[in-house]
Amino acid sequence: MNKRVLVKFSGEALAGEEGYGIDTQILDYIADEIKNLVDNGIEVGIVIGGGNIIRGVTAAADGIIKRTSADYMGMLATVINGVAMQEALEHKGLSARLQTAIKMEQIAESFIVRKAIRHFEKNRVVIFSAGTGNPYFTTDTAATLRATEINACMLIKATKVDGVYDKDPMKYADAVKLETLTYDDALEDHIKVMDDTAIALAKDNKLPIVVANMNEKGNLLKIINGDFSRCSIVK
Ligand code: UDP
Repeated sequence: MNKRVLVKFSGEALAGEEGYGIDTQILDYIADEIKNLVDNGIEVGIVIGGGNIIRGVTAAADGIIKRTSADYMGMLATVINGVAMQEALEHKGLSARLQTAIKMEQIAESFIVRKAIRHFEKNRVVIFSAGTGNPYFTTDTAATLRATEINACMLIKATKVDGVYDKDPMKYADAVKLETLTYDDALEDHIKVMDDTAIALAKDNKLPIVVANMNEKGNLLKIINGDFSRCSIVK
């Protein structure tokens, strides 16, 4: 196992109590967690969603905005989050590079996998934004794709819950946490790990997906070091 990982944060994770926008204190917390990884010699790629700003499906719901345009708006939202994340990482003294799947030279580098790997070799954190660059995909799929391309040993989906449950733990007191799932388990309708496209891609490429609580300090490092007691793993 090499020590290169891809961590996926949802856009909502950045929003804090407000439910929208970017809470810089949360960014600062995430930057600390990422610094903990880099300080321990781990190469880190990051994908961030855009749900704290806009989601394509929601924006297109009443038919005024076309789905394709709404999805491009969603991809742009991930770039906004990426710029913020790059700042927060640099504020912690880390070296970071933002890449985008859609060309916007003044703001970020274009996504070039060889360049990304060179950055990792120089201990830089690479943030992959604008999703896959295509409408009708999610940032979970983008994270799976980038993790595969950079040859990450695992994809960690950093969430607000500490793993995957057989039913919604917020609604059902008897929900049971599933420690290990197969990719086929994760494709079951009631298990919400990631969308089917992301799971299918991970399955094809044998990429382990770990679902973990981002609010538990030090958890990311523990997981990468092989302690899977506080998460769920799809493999
Ligand atoms: N999106 C897209 N193609 C991609 C990734 C994202 O069109 O490859 C758009 C899509 O509209 C999505 C939005 O960007 O709703 C924000 O991403 P996502 O919903 O995955 O963010 P998250 O839920 O993780 O915050």
